[in-house]
Amino acid sequence: MNVLKDKVLVMKFGGTSLGTPEAMSQAVQNVKQAHEQWPQVVVVVSALSGVTDMLIESARCAAEGDQQCFYRASHELRERHEKMVHQLVPDLARQIQVKQDINHLITDFTHFCQAIAVLGEATPRAMDVVASLGERLSVRLMAAALESAELPAQFVEGSQLIITDDQYTAARPDIQATKKRTVRTLKPILDQKRVPVVAGFIASTPEGVLTTLGRGGSDYSAALIGVALEASEVWIWTDVDGVMTADPRMVEDAQTIPELSYNEVAELAYFGAKVLHPKTIHPIIEAGIGLRVLNTFNPTHPGTRIVSSHPQMENGPIKAVAAFRGLQLVTVQGRGMLGVPGVAARIFTAVATTGTSVPLIAEAASEQSICFAVPMEITPRAIAALEKALATELALGDIDRVWSTGEVAIVSVLSPGTRSTPGISAQIFTVLGEDQINVEAISYGSSEISLSLVVSASEIQRALKSLHRLIKMPGTES
Ligand code: ADP
Ligand code: ASP
Ligand code: MG
Repeated sequence: MNVLKDKVLVMKFGGTSLGTPEAMSQAVQNVKQAHEQWPQVVVVVSALSGVTDMLIESARCAAEGDQQCFYRASHELRERHEKMVHQLVPDLARQIQVKQDINHLITDFTHFCQAIAVLGEATPRAMDVVASLGERLSVRLMAAALESAELPAQFVEGSQLIITDDQYTAARPDIQATKKRTVRTLKPILDQKRVPVVAGFIASTPEGVLTTLGRGGSDYSAALIGVALEASEVWIWTDVDGVMTADPRMVEDAQTIPELSYNEVAELAYFGAKVLHPKTIHPIIEAGIGLRVLNTFNPTHPGTRIVSSHPQMENGPIKAVAAFRGLQLVTVQGRGMLGVPGVAARIFTAVATTGTSVPLIAEAASEQSICFAVPMEITPRAIAALEKALATELALGDIDRVWSTGEVAIVSVLSPGTRSTPGISAQIFTVLGEDQINVEAISYGSSEISLSLVVSASEIQRALKSLHRLIKMPGTES
């Protein structure tokens, strides 16, 4: 039995769906339409496109003592949001109220940045306070726009619903506490036949200190709210026709994938398909909630439906390609590593002290080197940690050196048949060879359904296009 009496639909709109008055107006229409079929709709919103980047950049500039940067940003934020209010909220009283709220939040923004400038430092906790403002602004705007379109709505700060630990900038939710808070806050609004409009991305600790779920995290907010309300479906509205065979910005002939399993979409999201935040999938699978990815600007397109599994496809062909950017390969190299037990454990224990997770590991069969990928900003710290942990081996010459490559990306091929279908990897290396794309490392085996390659940053698009040729498009022969 559902915690609420009727079926619940959660609709999440990304920044790309809210960036302009026309886009937000389309999003409003989509909510109205869904509301005709679904008695209980909850809307989750991101910040307007580009706003979170601008906020984070302003806090960084402020920490470096640049005052101009955040004053410029506050001016731009005010102008952009007010323009939206004028176009989407015609009723004067409502308009004045929203403009007042927006002005207060933007004044808070300049105060926070001034404080950061005085301290000369933006702590992760302060960063979250600043980054949260984008959603705190857009949620008020969207609720007022819905009301103006005659759909009673009520904005809700995500921090009232989602309870997390205090790992600022990437906080982890407490599912039980979140469920309690979400039901307690949203049920009365739904009972009054209003549409709750929730600010995604933001959350708070049990003590009420603001946190965020990490960049792109409003998809995750939608999933957490869906789970808390035992929703029937969560629909993620974005600016493309669902999950596609590749990022359409990189590969022009990318096509929508009508159905994907939870595991497949989780793998794609993890390996860089920005269309869904990777953490979105796990809570949704556990709760058995239906998930769709849809295009705000093409609402009649069926998009992508995420399903539990479709066994007939398990050995199917290559389905999609994705790129995980901004990485470097770190290599620990030395003949003395041969047969020495525990070296790998020590290496990864040292890397773990930097607080990062390693998305790819490759070891040469000779055991003379171990290499792994880390986000570029972590590389200097990872190398320092390794040099410290392996100081004795380096001094004895058992390990020659610890070094890193230039910028690389992991390019992943989603192919549920990679393991069991002979010839797929041959095809992959053949097309890359034909296009003379150099592969710096391979990871094959950590996942049942994908194969990952490392290429230099300058080769990402060529590698994606090359591998994309292997995808059998509907209506084409083998
Ligand atoms: P939103 O603001 O809606 O959250 P995002 O920018 O986070 O939007 O995600 C949508 C973008 O993800 C698309 O515009 C597209 O360029 C990119 N993308 C990357 N890989 C894929 C993929 N496989 N399928 C669809 N979109 C993808
Ligand atoms: N606004 C946040 C970001 O840009 C969250 C999101 O868009 O999902 O990261
Ligand atoms: Mg997104």
